Amino acid sequence: MSSPISRRHFLKTSFFAAGTAIAGTSTAKAASTFDADKEPLVTLIDISRCIGCEECVYACQDANAHKFADPKKPFPKMYPDRVPVEDWSDRRNVTDRLTPYNWLYIQYASATTKEGEKITLTIPRRCMHCQNPPCVKLCPWGAAKQEKNGLSRIDSQICLGGSKCKKACPWDIPQRQTGTGLYLDLLPAFAGNGVMYKCDRCYQKIEKGEQPACIEACPEDVQTIGKRSDIIKKAKDLAKEMDGYIYGLDENGGTNTIYVSPVPFDQLVYDTGEGKPHMHPVEDTMAAGSNLAIAMVIAPIAGAAAAVGKYYRQMKEEA
Ligand code: SF4
Ligand code: SF4
Ligand code: SF4
Repeated sequence: MSSPISRRHFLKTSFFAAGTAIAGTSTAKAASTFDADKEPLVTLIDISRCIGCEECVYACQDANAHKFADPKKPFPKMYPDRVPVEDWSDRRNVTDRLTPYNWLYIQYASATTKEGEKITLTIPRRCMHCQNPPCVKLCPWGAAKQEKNGLSRIDSQICLGGSKCKKACPWDIPQRQTGTGLYLDLLPAFAGNGVMYKCDRCYQKIEKGEQPACIEACPEDVQTIGKRSDIIKKAKDLAKEMDGYIYGLDENGGTNTIYVSPVPFDQLVYDTGEGKPHMHPVEDTMAAGSNLAIAMVIAPIAGAAAAVGKYYRQMKEEA
């Protein structure tokens, strides 16, 4: 466990310098360690270290509170009618699942070790930041996007809350809040979905060379972030060291979040359902011919729609 002093020192150390430690390279090479044009950033989550304290959960909420919705009520009629109202605005303190106001939660899993010991593992769960994210490729409005450094995020200013990203996501990660977003301006009398929210891997902090809030806050150094090749090596070394297992190398074609567990992922017993993602094996969603075809058709339309959305937002801000 990190002492308070070493942890404070760690937090004061720049993201780039931290990357140097991960990579084992010189300080002079640190800046290029996180050159997003060269390699994506990947997070390693060592499940065996997590104590379930939820410091990361509250840090995430604090760091991203300014991005959360402040919906207008009463909500306009939903379109189509079968679309349910999804309102978490009065339940912002829920932390036992993903919601539009809680982008990271701690999943409890019971398991039995090789030695026969019954244990409970606590697993930080949030967007996996897939390498080839179907939420991005299949968003018809260009609201979901992937940055060069591999993170994916949803632009709340453009999203219309149609939930395609959630349907496309193998883990059902994005969560909808009704009564907020662009749709209120476009078709208030006829349409009504909201905005989809999920972990954006603290992209603004990363742009400034800082670490994501959940990583900064963790007292057990459960998460490590760095360039893909370094993190994959670290994950494999760690799995070998603990005789453990890896999740994320191949799931959905590979994700920019890699979990290492002391017990096999298919032997973990945990609650799943709305806002509580599974840890099953996942085929590469975008390898399916139908999704590839849809993505090719959508790409130019989504690009144009995003441009219109951005233009509208600009006009609104200037008005
Ligand atoms: S886990 Fe889901 S929401 Fe996150 S990048 Fe992958 S498809 Fe998108
Ligand atoms: S990376 Fe940022 S947005 Fe994502 S779970 Fe961590 S604190 Fe939340
Ligand atoms: S802060 Fe660290 S130890 Fe605490 S729940 Fe989050 S990942 Fe686990």
